[in-house]
Amino acid sequence: MIAQAVQMERTDERMSRMLYYNGTVITMEEPFCAQAVLTEDGVIRAVGTFEDVRAAAGEGEKCLVDLQGHTLMPGFIDPHSHFTACANATMQVDLGEAECFEDVIRLIREFIERENIPAGQWVRASGFDHNRLKEGRHPDRTVLDQAAPEHLLMVSHQSGHMGAFNSRALEALGVDGHTQPPQGGMIAVKDGEPTGYMEENAFLQYIQKAPMPSPEAFLEAYRKAQKLYASYGVTTVQEGMMSAPLGPLYQLLLHSGILELDLVAYLDMEAGDELKRQFAEHIGKYKDHMKIGGYKMFLDGSPQGRTAWLREPYLPVEEGAAGPAGETTAPSPDCGYPTLTDAAVKSNILRAERDQMQLLAHCNGDAACEQYLREYAAALAELPDHTPGDIRPVMIHAQLLGLDQLERVKGLGIIPSFFLAHVYHWGDIHLKNLGQKRAERISPAHSALEHGIRFTLHQDAPVIRPDMMETVWCAVNRMTRNGVILGTEERISVADALKAVTINGAYQYFEEDKKGSIAPGKLADFVILEQNPLEADPIDLRKIRVLATIKEGTCIYRADGQGTGEVR
Ligand SMILES: [Zn+2]
Ligand SMILES: [Zn+2]
Repeated sequence: MIAQAVQMERTDERMSRMLYYNGTVITMEEPFCAQAVLTEDGVIRAVGTFEDVRAAAGEGEKCLVDLQGHTLMPGFIDPHSHFTACANATMQVDLGEAECFEDVIRLIREFIERENIPAGQWVRASGFDHNRLKEGRHPDRTVLDQAAPEHLLMVSHQSGHMGAFNSRALEALGVDGHTQPPQGGMIAVKDGEPTGYMEENAFLQYIQKAPMPSPEAFLEAYRKAQKLYASYGVTTVQEGMMSAPLGPLYQLLLHSGILELDLVAYLDMEAGDELKRQFAEHIGKYKDHMKIGGYKMFLDGSPQGRTAWLREPYLPVEEGAAGPAGETTAPSPDCGYPTLTDAAVKSNILRAERDQMQLLAHCNGDAACEQYLREYAAALAELPDHTPGDIRPVMIHAQLLGLDQLERVKGLGIIPSFFLAHVYHWGDIHLKNLGQKRAERISPAHSALEHGIRFTLHQDAPVIRPDMMETVWCAVNRMTRNGVILGTEERISVADALKAVTINGAYQYFEEDKKGSIAPGKLADFVILEQNPLEADPIDLRKIRVLATIKEGTCIYRADGQGTGEVR
């Protein structure tokens, strides 16, 4: 039985003033901790000692919220994830637990059976990781044809950067042995026939050609995704890649009025102008909880898939553990490869700067980081009236960001958003792919701090769950699945890790005046944690449970399941 999260003394159903007391309040400001908070109409009015806050509250009616010794802190700000993909994931076969092709086949068959999907329909599966499959490679069409011979099947790798289609899907998409992959993509071909496996731009292009589920199904999926984020204490969430097909879905979502969390969307640059027209009222400011934050571009792939673009080659693949199936048409596969040309990267940067739209660049490998830094400097040289950092450009993932590159990151005003939980989930694979020295320097958070660089930490959901305490735990401990400590020197303090998912996240979104810390005038966006992370044993940080999540004064999640929104 779950202990009751917080005790609420309800004096008025429509009470808009709340006084939280009898717990620890982590403010993320000086002083770092307080005893009580007063909020009114979803905004923080006072914070401090219980006596001071009670005095500030005066005699007027208020709802007293007894924290029962638990800890209240600013709601977590998700600096990078994919809200729609999370919603999508709830409508897909989850292959996260698959350990061999047999599992992949079984899970897909069970899903089709359970959901009663007629033959000839599309079936989506996601979350497999070839590194964790016994076969050590990606499933191809022969495997997928066994799972669903009658359906059109597509299977996405956990990274979202690659995947495979079965024979019927390839046929429907018009892919054969002669199909040319788009720039920055790969279609695997063996003996003149496609194996079904694709990477990067090729994979992205073809998954977008598959039809979408019904609007009702999407709304239900959005509801589930929102609940998932709220259950981890997240109050601001990201749509990390809004492409043209997502336009109608977001219109649907906004129209339904179900959005409770704040959502910041980043536009696919190709569809940017059209989406800006469609969502004109949301550009740079929230309306109905959604705002357009800027643009998104991809510079490379993922290190665990060996498609992140590196300056030094990957270590050779071990005997018996094959890389991507089939032949590859990509240049120098040993270093991964770029997704965009230098000229395209620079022109995207120029466009973002001229439009004064924030730019998120996915860079995993150090060669991709280098391309971003080089082209950014070149672009700014053409824009003498622009100050570096004016659009707060973000480097998403920045996993292999080199120590020699940090000075330029700082100079250009770029915010790295590290995917630090990679150290836990794929750290053992990074050791094999990259060797000890490079693997230890993955996501160099401590070095970034030493350079005075403000950074954030993300989970890239649905790649992994939007569990922000896992991120914090990982940044503090840097422990792999096998229990290896990867990069002792890059560990950071709990306080610095918490900043990366609160106040720094707010800064990344240009919202530091409204969110990210507990101060009068800011929004009453809170998470209530079972234990104080500043006092917990560092190794237990990821076990700290979220008891409740509050968005602008309204409780939107309670661990004890006592409904939502009932506080007001
Ligand atoms: Zn990414
Ligand atoms: Zn992402």
